[in-house]
Amino acid sequence: MSADKKEPSFRESVDLMFNRAVALMDLSPGLEEKIRVCNATYTVRFGVRLRGQIQTFTGYRSVHSEHMEPVKGGIRYAMAVNQDEVEALAALMTFKCAVVEVPFGGSKGGLRIDPREWEEDELELITRRFAYELAKRDLIHPSQNVPAPDMGTGEREMAWMADQYRRMNTTDINSRACVTGKPVNAGGIQGRTEATGRGVQYALQEFFRHPEDMKNAGLEGSLDGKRIIVQGLGNVGYHGAKFLQEEDGCKIIGIIERDGALYDENGLNVEDVRNWIAKHDGVNGYPSGTYTKDGSKLLEQDCDILLPAALEGVINLSNADSIKARLIIEAANGPVTAGADAILREKGVVIIPDMYANAGGVTVSYFEWVKNLSHIRFGRMQRRQEENRHRLLLEELERISHDNSINWTLSPKFRDKYLKGAGELELVRSGLEDTMRTAYQEISGKWHEREDVTDLRTAAYLVAIDKVVSSYDTLGL
Ligand code: GLU
Repeated sequence: MSADKKEPSFRESVDLMFNRAVALMDLSPGLEEKIRVCNATYTVRFGVRLRGQIQTFTGYRSVHSEHMEPVKGGIRYAMAVNQDEVEALAALMTFKCAVVEVPFGGSKGGLRIDPREWEEDELELITRRFAYELAKRDLIHPSQNVPAPDMGTGEREMAWMADQYRRMNTTDINSRACVTGKPVNAGGIQGRTEATGRGVQYALQEFFRHPEDMKNAGLEGSLDGKRIIVQGLGNVGYHGAKFLQEEDGCKIIGIIERDGALYDENGLNVEDVRNWIAKHDGVNGYPSGTYTKDGSKLLEQDCDILLPAALEGVINLSNADSIKARLIIEAANGPVTAGADAILREKGVVIIPDMYANAGGVTVSYFEWVKNLSHIRFGRMQRRQEENRHRLLLEELERISHDNSINWTLSPKFRDKYLKGAGELELVRSGLEDTMRTAYQEISGKWHEREDVTDLRTAAYLVAIDKVVSSYDTLGL
């Protein structure tokens, strides 16, 4: 999608949104500047001998703020990666971590590569070399800088990076905590892969517990039956849409993918579409719904909730006016440009901002990091003890009812559920739900408590910046 000429770059967009928020705060200009700028961006160009010649790759790791360490943020593999983008994403990581009270500073990395052009063994060589370049400068390090997956990377790449770090630091007992988003059998945590999508679901559920916020978006009722258009059925879009469809009764009426879009007023089955994409490399030919080649047009289709979960800048000056959704939840980072944001605000569209909406990923990354440092799986000590106590209670109740000849039985479903102690996945989901709910309440509270705060993004920035400022205060800066 081509943006209008007046459109600011992604980093400028983030700066504009930041400036809008700090204008409402009473910060000294020096502190304001300190929080806004990226502390450092490291660029590396390295060669790997592949396919009979040396191939040169360009990668970045940007550190936005070290008010808390380690700094945290994903590494993306995409041809569009550049310094401006990596810096914008690193800044968003600072505010994202602050808003959900994850004790990290913000960072982000990227490698300019199209991962689909390389075989798995080639990608491994490239990833290990990139990891080596970063690790030798402490840009991968359990206590300094902890990468994670992002667009174009996943568990596999994280496992290679973690192993590369371990080979370079053979005596570091905490080496596994050098990256998150690893496979569970290599030091990962249950629920990390689904985490960002799960967080999007929890964010929407919490929004729908706030009648006043719903009213601002012109929505009523519950999530059940709400019509959603999702852009991008990658890890985040797929999990978010799937959970909203299967557990909350939402109707996914549109799915926009790289090769076009599908539309079906009666709802598309997310799982089926995902399987279709995996087999056919796109949505074209999917047996139900209508296919349109120009997928981005579907962003402008009437729906209750628009869920952009792909690239940045997809809602921009060229299409903001035509958006019909009442509520946008930014599952991707930066899908709405600063210019589009102003137009949408004017139109009364409510936007649940990226720094909060997609913070589920980094939240569960935090749990994984804690797990790696504590060297024990969550729930290992308590699970059976919890189950035994519950069983004791049920047996006592059954004894009392028997002794008093009360005809009283528990439904088998309740019994099973009640007796099951929480394992790692249940604990991760509980921690994530608590995080998403608490953060939303804080942001929404700020939106309502101040008349000059007229949107959730500004409210989220205020909450985040306040937290960064108090860290700096404690540091004595
Ligand atoms: N890449 C994800 C994000 O943008 C996750 C970051 C992390 O887990 O550190 O939030």
